[in-house]
Amino acid sequence: MIFPFDNSYARLPDAFFAPVEPTPVSAPLMIRLNDRLATELGIDATRLDSAEGLAILSGNEVAEGSEPLAMAYSGHQFGGFSPQLGDGRAILLGEVVRDDGVRFDIQLKGAGQTPFSRRGDGRSALGPVLREYIVSEAMAALGVPTTRAFAAIASGDNVLREGLMPGGVFTRVAQSHIRIGTFQWFAAREDHDNLKVLADYTIERHYPDAQHDDNPYRALLVGVIERQAKLIAHWMQLGFIHGVMNTDNMTVSGETIDYGPCAFMDAYHPAKTFSSIDHQGRYAFANQSPIGHWNLTRFAETLLPLLDGDPQRSVAEAESALDAFAGIHRTALQERFTAKIGIQQGDADDWHLVEALLSAMAEGEADFTLVFRHLSDALESGSDQAVMHLFNQPEAIVAWLTSWRSRLHDVDRSQAISLMRRTNPVFIPRNHRVEEAIQAGNSGDFAPFHRLHEVLQHPFTEQPEFTEYEAAPAPDEVVQATFCGT
Ligand code: AMP
Ligand code: MG
Repeated sequence: MIFPFDNSYARLPDAFFAPVEPTPVSAPLMIRLNDRLATELGIDATRLDSAEGLAILSGNEVAEGSEPLAMAYSGHQFGGFSPQLGDGRAILLGEVVRDDGVRFDIQLKGAGQTPFSRRGDGRSALGPVLREYIVSEAMAALGVPTTRAFAAIASGDNVLREGLMPGGVFTRVAQSHIRIGTFQWFAAREDHDNLKVLADYTIERHYPDAQHDDNPYRALLVGVIERQAKLIAHWMQLGFIHGVMNTDNMTVSGETIDYGPCAFMDAYHPAKTFSSIDHQGRYAFANQSPIGHWNLTRFAETLLPLLDGDPQRSVAEAESALDAFAGIHRTALQERFTAKIGIQQGDADDWHLVEALLSAMAEGEADFTLVFRHLSDALESGSDQAVMHLFNQPEAIVAWLTSWRSRLHDVDRSQAISLMRRTNPVFIPRNHRVEEAIQAGNSGDFAPFHRLHEVLQHPFTEQPEFTEYEAAPAPDEVVQATFCGT
């Protein structure tokens, strides 16, 4: 067996999924196989790098031991509830268990229609496949909990989107694909028996300590709130905008999932959005904090029947758990952002210093990534020129630099510099570079994709051969909107 499958989800009751086989594609071509990840998961990468491996990962053949299925889920999309979503273009092949006992899903995206496809074709264009590969692997290298890219394949077929586009199949690895929306599926159907089965399964797989709690379901809720509150702070530290924080795109494991219209900001602005369909700015950069809380409130609602036999006490349990979100998230944000300016364990005054910098950056339209990276250079060289050049209105930043230097007066300078350099990346997947890789990939040239992937493997390290990837986009290179491309 190429994949040592052990499929626990397929053993859950029928209501959890629909069995479905992938639909073959015409002429699959392996663009990239993540052999390091394969090896980590106990999969023989050399055996996978073969005609058989290509057939399995393109959906042309069902691997031995695989029990392919589409998962059922619901979700709030841009605030409105859709009771019937589910894997419309994704098929779970099965699970493998790593040496340390952690279980991982192996899932194909774009492998054909499922009973959840509604009017969709079950396919994926190649562009989103390349985007997800680049961005999810960059997130992993940046240290952010995330689903992983296992393989990117060109299908040899065209898909109809804004015109005909080349198609692709993506293999995703995740600690699981259980979403807030999976809980909503059963809650919306008032299927409390299966809701309990799902909660118990989730606890065993992702929150085993909760089993020993007086109230395991409360412990589950508290655990998911904590991981999501910290995850969103981690995104924000890096200027990442998820773009489509619907409840079906929020995992209960606390991994980032669904790299559709996501983007890293170039110039900082708290109201920045990229998604072409986010007209209200619901998922704007700074709105990710309240939206995280909103999504978790939807999660808590699904658990009400399990939290307590008494409805009033159940609501009280949920509310007290949700009340913790703001504090956990704020503490994580504070710690992550003060580290960006060289201060370990910053206090409320340090947070105000961060806020003052961010408002100067918003006013001065300064590049998020470059400002923080240049600040450590300024600390080392004593020269503020490079930082000041990043601002349209240097006055605001001159005053700020003075307060910052006086705050750091008693701090060990080399420690501050090293903290900043391991917190502030040199390289992020800049949108114009991702677009460039996609454009070239659409004409069959994958060199820019491979090169961008390579540089992003070491995001905190200066790489002189790749300096052009550090730069902010020139005015004519700025990407204004990103698309799901689905
Ligand atoms: P997303 O916005 O990518 O999170 O997807 C939302 C829902 O639409 C999910 O149920 C997807 O499975 C479904 N979906 C998206 N694209 C397609 C497609 N091309 N074919 C079928 N279903 C799709
Ligand atoms: Mg989704």
